[in-house]
Amino acid sequence: MNSLQSLPAEAPDHADALLERVADIADGPLAALAYRIDQEGHYPLEIMRALGEAGGLDAHLGEHPRFDLAIGAMQRVARRCGTTGFLVWAHQVCGLYMARSGNPALAGARLDAHRRGARFGGTALSNPMKALSGIERMALRARPDGHGGYRVSGVLPWVSHIAPGQYCGALAQVRDDRDRIQGEIMFLLECDDQVELRPCPTFSGMEGSSTWGIRLQDYPVGAERLIADPARPFIAEVRAGFILLQAGMALGVAQGSLDSILEVEGQLGHVNRFLDQRPDTLRAELEDLERRAGLLAATPYDDSRDYLLDVLDLRTQGADFALRAAQSAMLHQGARGYALSAAAQRRLREAQFVAIVTPAIKHLRWEMDRLCREQWPAGEETSA
Ligand SMILES: Cc1cc2nc3c(=O)[nH]c(=O)nc-3n(C[C@H](O)[C@H](O)[C@H](O)COP(=O)(O)OP(=O)(O)OC[C@H]3O[C@@H](n4cnc5c(N)ncnc54)[C@H](O)[C@@H]3O)c2cc1C
Repeated sequence: MNSLQSLPAEAPDHADALLERVADIADGPLAALAYRIDQEGHYPLEIMRALGEAGGLDAHLGEHPRFDLAIGAMQRVARRCGTTGFLVWAHQVCGLYMARSGNPALAGARLDAHRRGARFGGTALSNPMKALSGIERMALRARPDGHGGYRVSGVLPWVSHIAPGQYCGALAQVRDDRDRIQGEIMFLLECDDQVELRPCPTFSGMEGSSTWGIRLQDYPVGAERLIADPARPFIAEVRAGFILLQAGMALGVAQGSLDSILEVEGQLGHVNRFLDQRPDTLRAELEDLERRAGLLAATPYDDSRDYLLDVLDLRTQGADFALRAAQSAMLHQGARGYALSAAAQRRLREAQFVAIVTPAIKHLRWEMDRLCREQWPAGEETSA
């Protein structure tokens, strides 16, 4: 089946077939590459291409969007390699920006190529997401160019799944001639010769994610690159989906950790039974989080505060669960899991990334606290 044939909601066999194709890629060629991706910084575009052809990058788009399938596909990938799970997420959200932009220059043939993994791009929204929540300053500034477009300047320290010829969704604060803030624009930043890509420090994980610093000096943004102007309503529309999709990374890393525990159960179960976070406990928690993600995935554009709080809570618990599962896998595996080639130690670093990538656990808690205060003013909060 071509990935661009949208999946009708009532076709479970199509959904199963899609997830099986993704699992075949993840369990086969991707699993064999996981060490190279982690330790040698191999950027697995050949895997991303195969996943695109299998329909694993775009189930959340099109006429019958299925966020549950997009999360399920990412989970199967992240179970074998957290870095590639992260790339799938970055690719999926970039597709979401393009699809919902309503801009024919981005949502037509361009989007089709993105959906089937013929072209690649990620997301540079960490800083804007934090800036719009009041955590830090906006890194990119846009000035109107007098011809209906903008010139954008500034520096973003870390953006993944980009390279020359690729692209990412980005956001800049608009300032007028007198430096007054005039809102924000969102645009597709194409990594052409007007964009300086700077190498990042060597990370302890995610080395195969093709992560670069970006420096822009008067980068032109015309109508053909605009995703949203103004950007805030658009961000409000896609924010829950952006965060919800990340569940696939957390669930996959946790499931891979459970695999590592079960792998040694026959041999080490007699002593491992003295450990906490045993397989039955972890499996029950995994299934509960999967169920919650599935329920929330049914309404990704619900704009209520309660829905957003549920998504933030799921994302927080998913990150915490991935950390606990990865730690438990390490303890269950013992010395064999401590070898540099072992999946158990790699997953510890992958789970840490799930917990620190925007929105990090600390940002999620900040946001939940803010939302709860908006709903229940301080006076009422203490009167209960
Ligand atoms: C491997 C990797 C891949 C990433 N990929 C992406 C991506 O694809 N898209 C994206 O938008 N973001 C990406 N990020 C950024 C990530 O999502 C976080 O925003 C980032 O790690 C900062 O979050 P923090 O919680 O550590 O920030 P805080 O601790 O809250 O720090 C606040 C801010 O201080 C600045 N800062 C802190 N330390 C440094 C430093 N050493 N160098 C430069 N600036 C610094 C940054 O602006 C940071 O956001 C990536 C980060 C890493 C490590």
